[in-house]
Amino acid sequence: MTAFDYDFFVIGAGSGGVRAARRAAHHGARVAVAEDKALGGTCVNVGCVPKKLFVYAAEFSHALADARGYGWTPEQPGFNWATLRDNKTNEIIRLNGIYEKLLKDSGAEILTGRARLIDPHTVAVGDRHYRARHLLIATGGRPFLPDIPGREHAICSDQAFYLPRLPETIVIVGGGYIAVEFAGIFNGLGVKTHLVYRGDLFLRGFDQDVREALATEMSKRGIQLHFNEDIERIDPTADGFRARLKRGGDLDAGLFMYATGRRANTEGLGLEHTKVRLDARGAIEIDADFRTAEPSIYALGDVIGRVELTPVAIREAMVLTENLFGAGGAVMSYDNIPSAVFSQPSIGSVGLTEAQARERHANVRIFKSSFRPMKATLGGGDERALMKLVVNGDDDRVLGCHMLGDHAGEIIQGFAVAVRMGATKADFDRTIGIHPTAAEEFVTLK
Ligand code: NDP
Repeated sequence: MTAFDYDFFVIGAGSGGVRAARRAAHHGARVAVAEDKALGGTCVNVGCVPKKLFVYAAEFSHALADARGYGWTPEQPGFNWATLRDNKTNEIIRLNGIYEKLLKDSGAEILTGRARLIDPHTVAVGDRHYRARHLLIATGGRPFLPDIPGREHAICSDQAFYLPRLPETIVIVGGGYIAVEFAGIFNGLGVKTHLVYRGDLFLRGFDQDVREALATEMSKRGIQLHFNEDIERIDPTADGFRARLKRGGDLDAGLFMYATGRRANTEGLGLEHTKVRLDARGAIEIDADFRTAEPSIYALGDVIGRVELTPVAIREAMVLTENLFGAGGAVMSYDNIPSAVFSQPSIGSVGLTEAQARERHANVRIFKSSFRPMKATLGGGDERALMKLVVNGDDDRVLGCHMLGDHAGEIIQGFAVAVRMGATKADFDRTIGIHPTAAEEFVTLK
C-alpha cells in the first residue's frame, strides 16, 4: 500500500483538466478529478460551445436578408429567444454527460465538490482528504469587472447565456474576443447594440488592417462603436440602466454587459498552504514544465494566464501528462497558434501581424486583397472580406496569415499548417486554388 490515494489529482474538469486526467489514466496512473460545477469548464458551459451556437443563431438574420436576392420570399421571420437559450442549454447538458462518460471510461474518478489544498500532497473535497503524488491546478478563469459604481447592475458573459429575456438595447463594455463576439450575437438577434471600448480600436494584438475592417463591417451592420470611451458609473432607471460616459453624456440600455477580461480562478484553493506563487495579474507561476514553485503541484490552462484558448490548454495537458506519465520529451510550443474571433464577419489569424513582423524583420512584404464576397452579389449586401499575408522578404517565408470574412476560422485552420511548416509565398503561389471560394485569394495574392 502506497502513501498516496492517487498518482495524479486534478482540480478542475475543464478542457485542460479533463484532457490531463484522461491521458494520465491512459498511461496507467491512478487519477481523480475534482469539480464543483458542471463538467467541461468554461468552454463547454459558458464559453466556446454555447457562444458558437448563439453565433449560428445570429447569422440567420443576415442569411434571411440575403435570401431575397436569391429568389426566396421569407415571411417576416420571428425569433424566440427562449427556444434558442433552452435548446442551447439542453445541448450543454448533453455535452456534460459526454464529458462524464469520457472521464469514467478512461478510469479517472470524478469527485464532486470544491477542492482545497491542505498541504503540497493533500486535497480536501467536502470533508474527505485525499493524498496524491502529483497535483494539477486547472481551475481556469472567471470574468473580471472593473470596480466602478453600479457595476452590480452589469452582467458578464456567464449570465448572457441564461438571460430570462433579450433587452431592446445592450451596451457591451470591452474590446476583446468576448465583447466583439457578443456584440455580433446580440445585434444579429435584433438587439440594438453598443460597444464601448477604452482604446482607439478593439482587438488589440490582432492585425491592424483586420481590426479596422471589422470595425467598418460591424458599423455597417448597425452596431454602434464607441472607441476611446469608458463608463464612469451605472445607475438604474425606470425601465433599465443609465451609464455616465467618461467623455461626457449618457447611454441608456436595458442591459449592460462587461467583457473586460478574465482572471485566474485561485480563490479559496488553499494555495497559502503551499509554495505556489501568483504573478502580478494573479495567474499561477509555472516553469517550462508547468511545475509551480511547489514541486508536487502543476498548473495549466487559463489559470496560468498564458494563452487563454481551449486547444492550448489541451495541448499543455498532453505535454504535461506525456512528461509525467509517458515517454517524456514533449515540449509545448506557443508559436503560430491560430485563433478565430467569431465576430460577424469572423476573423481568422495565424502567425505574426504586420506590426510584429516589422519589429522583428527588416524586410517585410505585405500582400492583401479586399473584395466583395460572391454571396453578397445577389444577396445585395455591401460587406467586404479581407485577406492578408505577411511575408519575410529575405527568405520568402509566410510569417502571418490573416482574414476577415465568412468561415475565417475554418479557412485559417488549414493555412496554419502551412505557416507552421514554414511555407514560402512561392509555395502558396504554386498551390492551385479551389474555385470559386474566398480561400483561393490566399494562393493568388499578387
Ligand atoms: P480579452 O483579454 O480578450 O479582452 C479584454 C478587453 O477588456 C480588452 O479590450 C481590454 O482593453 C478591456 N479591459 C480590460 N480591463 C478593462 C478595464 N478595467 N476597463 C475597461 N476595459 C478593460 O478578454 P475577453 O474577456 O474578451 O476574453 C478572455 C479570453 O478568453 C480571451 O483573451 C481569449 O483568450 C479567450 N476567448 C477566446 C475566444 C475565441 O477563441 N474565439 C472567444 C472568447 C474568449 P485593452 O485592450 O485596452 O487592455
